[in-house]
Amino acid sequence: MDIKSLESQHTSGVYAKRDVVIVRGKGALLYDDQGREYIDCVGGQGVANLGHAHPAVAAAIARQAETLITCPEMFYNDQRAELAARLCALAGMPRLFLCNSGAESIEAAFKFSRLATRRTKIVAAMRGFHGRTFGALSATWNKKYREPFEPLVPGFVHAPYNNLERLAQAMDGETAAVVLEVVQGEGGVYPGSADYLLGAQRLCRQAGALLIIDEVQTGFGRTGRTFAFQHHGLEPDLVCVAKSLAGGLPMGAVLIGERVGEIPTGSHGSTFGGNPLACAAALAVLQTLDRERLPQRAAELGAYLMERLKGLDSPRVREVRGLGLMVGVEIRQKVAPYLQALMERGVLALAAGLTVIRLLPPLVIEQQQLDRVVEALAEVLALDLSEGGEVE
Ligand SMILES: *Cc1c(COP(=O)(O)O)cnc(C)c1O
Repeated sequence: MDIKSLESQHTSGVYAKRDVVIVRGKGALLYDDQGREYIDCVGGQGVANLGHAHPAVAAAIARQAETLITCPEMFYNDQRAELAARLCALAGMPRLFLCNSGAESIEAAFKFSRLATRRTKIVAAMRGFHGRTFGALSATWNKKYREPFEPLVPGFVHAPYNNLERLAQAMDGETAAVVLEVVQGEGGVYPGSADYLLGAQRLCRQAGALLIIDEVQTGFGRTGRTFAFQHHGLEPDLVCVAKSLAGGLPMGAVLIGERVGEIPTGSHGSTFGGNPLACAAALAVLQTLDRERLPQRAAELGAYLMERLKGLDSPRVREVRGLGLMVGVEIRQKVAPYLQALMERGVLALAAGLTVIRLLPPLVIEQQQLDRVVEALAEVLALDLSEGGEVE
């Protein structure tokens, strides 16, 4: 039986699949089982910041796999200690909790917020995305993700993004934390304004609430700084990271600020959290980000890409927005047929909602590869692939 039928027969069915079998990658390129090459602007949905098969990450994983893969946090470990020190220094925060995914890092941040404040309410943003477990889903906005699983966790409210007045109205003396993305990813690639984000931080301080910044998608150079919160000089109390942290191995972390205070022993935990294999991979990622100056590269190439996309001058394009190499092209039609047409031209891209083409290329992508992406976009946007007209 061929690969697609075999996988289709046994998958849960929760994923919409594209008609391609990806078997190999190198840098910003992916290859299918027929040997066809694609420029990867999906980037593992934000995981592959270093590109595919980066030799530093591959070597670190191989070396650590032969040394020690598992070691629960009841013991100390060399790789974990070194990673913790390095990651905390990068973020300018004193402590961290290690876990295995974005949703898990969000769950931990919510639990720590409740512990620290002895309050229960969480304010999140409309269009925000924080994951699919019950707590994270309760903070996620899209009703398509939420409604089938209600009732969710009580105490969550949503306020419009980039609107300080409405955020202030949503907060009260029971608010434990406000959780925000610096650039909303899944929600359509909407950058937060400095005024809004700094204002949210001020409101949190005034209300005795904590500020949780979700950097699961924006982290590790993606937006042109190591962390997106550094663009605005924010000082969040909790920072959630995952996706590209360990170069493709599953890993998440919550960085913990001073205002969170003591977290009682035994109050939270994770079996796989802080395993030496993921820690060694993450250490290689952090070293490579620095050595190859990938945040700067994302800033420069991102500005170049946005400039070229804004120059497309297609009546089908409503807006181009983004920060660094996190770029959204909002069009007047549904994006699905355009993503398919891009794939046929050797470019893999993501959707963000119904009408936004989202580009999350590896930060190691070459400028001429971005040129090929822009050319392919220009080509497909010249086609009328609207299925039933414009989308409002
Ligand atoms: C992907 C994502 C998550 C969830 O991460 P998972 O590893 O899929 O659980 C949370 N927040 C943001 C901003 C994300 O992009």
